[in-house]
Amino acid sequence: MRLKKLRETLITEGLDAILITQPENRRYLSGFTGSTGVLLISADEAIIATDFRYYEQVEKQAPDFRLAKVTAKFVTVLPDLVHQVGAKRVGFESVHLTVEQHREWQEVAEDAVSTSKFELLPTKELVQKIRAVKDEGELGKIKKAIALADQAIAHIADFIEPGLTEKEVAWELEVFMRTHGAEKLAFDLIFGSGPNGAMPHATVSARVIQAGEPIVIDMGAMVDGYNSDLTRTICAGRPDDKFQEIHAIVLEAQLTAERNIRPGMQGKQADAIARKVIEEAGYGENYGHGLGHGVGLAVHEKPGVGRLSEDVLQPGMVFTVEPGIYLPGWGGVRIEDIVVMREDGVEVLTQASKALSG
Ligand code: ZN
Ligand code: ZN
Repeated sequence: MRLKKLRETLITEGLDAILITQPENRRYLSGFTGSTGVLLISADEAIIATDFRYYEQVEKQAPDFRLAKVTAKFVTVLPDLVHQVGAKRVGFESVHLTVEQHREWQEVAEDAVSTSKFELLPTKELVQKIRAVKDEGELGKIKKAIALADQAIAHIADFIEPGLTEKEVAWELEVFMRTHGAEKLAFDLIFGSGPNGAMPHATVSARVIQAGEPIVIDMGAMVDGYNSDLTRTICAGRPDDKFQEIHAIVLEAQLTAERNIRPGMQGKQADAIARKVIEEAGYGENYGHGLGHGVGLAVHEKPGVGRLSEDVLQPGMVFTVEPGIYLPGWGGVRIEDIVVMREDGVEVLTQASKALSG
């Protein structure tokens, strides 16, 4: 099914074949989870080229692909593989290939003996567009990753108290996720207590947590290769008035978006729903990032759900809804859920509590 969709795309793009190097795309299309390998996919062939470390793994994980053994650099087998599939117009992933790799590939494409000369053509996010709509199997994995993050934040809301450092709390969170089923963290924890929370992507510091201040915690788990992404802004002890006020605005922005996003909207239209609430409350200047992003094999993927995104939101797409307000010197509040687009609106998959303290 995935290869079928890609092959339809090759036809509309006027390509005979495509070379896939981007790791999540490679995994999505072939099942192969290793770190090195190039897929060559044409109308009727699917080849995976990799080195000695992965021969056995490829046979197990990618049975639908023909293995091309690479003993030196991939570029040395490239002309022969392209010749085998009879391709003249060959796409590559311009968002991923390095300039150096492109130079090497271009050289052999031009040097190939005249009958097997081929043309390398840039393509942009063709597989990412297919990946944006999830199938049921993928949704099941994402739900597991979400449930784990939900459990973890509940645990941390109980655990956190004034006097602990950000590092101590972050370590507790990391251990919880790893011992409850995460393969790894989806990304390095984002942790902003008090004034640190004014930086949307604060890193974990040695700062000591104070009673009543907002604490932004943004984290996710990876399960079966799929990621979750969750932000809650919580508090040790009783939240002060300012925190309650800002939190209420951000929450209203988020819930308004979750109630009103519909299939067929562009990402920027979804973004505008939440932004309007924050602007009307007088904090538009303090909300400088987009509403959300797709999530799946990668933590950030299509569709874009920001101010400039023209991606059209379609049933089956999974993305975050994460408005925030950031006040330098004071701190920040961000609340992030993952939703899946359905025929009549979004279904919120994240179940974590939005209460301010545990
Ligand atoms: Zn996040
Ligand atoms: Zn996010």
